[in-house]
Amino acid sequence: MSAPVCVKCGGPVTADEIAVTKRLINRGTTDYYCVPCLAAYFDVRPEAIRGRIVHYRAMGCTLFAPEEEETADQ
Ligand SMILES: [Zn+2]
Repeated sequence: MSAPVCVKCGGPVTADEIAVTKRLINRGTTDYYCVPCLAAYFDVRPEAIRGRIVHYRAMGCTLFAPEEEETADQ
């Protein structure tokens, strides 16, 4: 199976980006967006999309795999 890509920019999408696309757009969608393109789609800042990923994971959403690596954003 081929690696999923963003339908807008064609760049690779991560599992988190797939999951947040499903949460924000449609659970059954197969059109995935990377974070910058999701932000453009909803006319918000990328930080807002990343915040949703953190939020949904914290809620225990099953679409989001538990992440071990931490991003050390300030
Ligand atoms: Zn994109």
